[in-house]
Amino acid sequence: MSDVTLASRPLVIAVDGPSGSGKSSVSRAVAATFGFRYLDTGAMYRAVALWMHQHGIDTSDPASVAAQVANVELTSGTDPDAPTISVDGVDVAEAIRTDAVTAMVSAVSAVPEVRAMLLDRQRAEAANAKAAGTGIVVEGRDIGTTVLPDADLKVFLTADQAARAARRTAQDQEEGRGGEVDATAQSLAARDAADKSRAASPLTKAEDAIEIDATFKTFDEVVDLVTQLVIGEQ
Ligand code: C5P
Repeated sequence: MSDVTLASRPLVIAVDGPSGSGKSSVSRAVAATFGFRYLDTGAMYRAVALWMHQHGIDTSDPASVAAQVANVELTSGTDPDAPTISVDGVDVAEAIRTDAVTAMVSAVSAVPEVRAMLLDRQRAEAANAKAAGTGIVVEGRDIGTTVLPDADLKVFLTADQAARAARRTAQDQEEGRGGEVDATAQSLAARDAADKSRAASPLTKAEDAIEIDATFKTFDEVVDLVTQLVIGEQ
């Protein structure tokens, strides 16, 4: 991550795309470069799914999930160098990355009451950042389309499925979770299909988003491209 902070006016930047496209690492690097905050909305959905699981709620039953969502106590820290996420006051940064949570998150994120609760929080984080005179990079699936349709810059980051599965597997292995390319590819494909086909705020590119295909680009190349786009907005 760059230790040079470029000056910028407080921009709101939306980064969306399918699973494993590199949104999180690119968003964090760009936020750190400009001294912006960073919000990982996927981590918020994962944390809600984990909370439901921990409290014995059937995550495949939308009515049960909807009935409980108001009870989820969720906190997100927005420092791009050390983002945090906790539920019921407990740090769940690692617990939300397990295969079990990954397998249940798309069903939980499709529940409109869950989306409504997180939408309010995500908008509040963006408003807080602006009020504090800093920018924010918000990454997810529906940031440019639904959460922050007036964002100053919208990026839609893609990569072909094999590249995304390879990236995610390497990341899982590096972070000690193990992982195997074929199983990861299947899990990504299932999650993307669910995220694109749900009725409530599906994964889709905003009309005014700039699409970057990272299949044949290095991480640094993608970060440079987005950095140039941010500079262009100043
Ligand atoms: O980004 P990540 O893979 O951690 O996201 C986990 C899941 O959270 C996604 O598969 C999707 O179901 C949900 N999500 C969402 N809307 C967002 C961000 C994530 O529905 N803005």
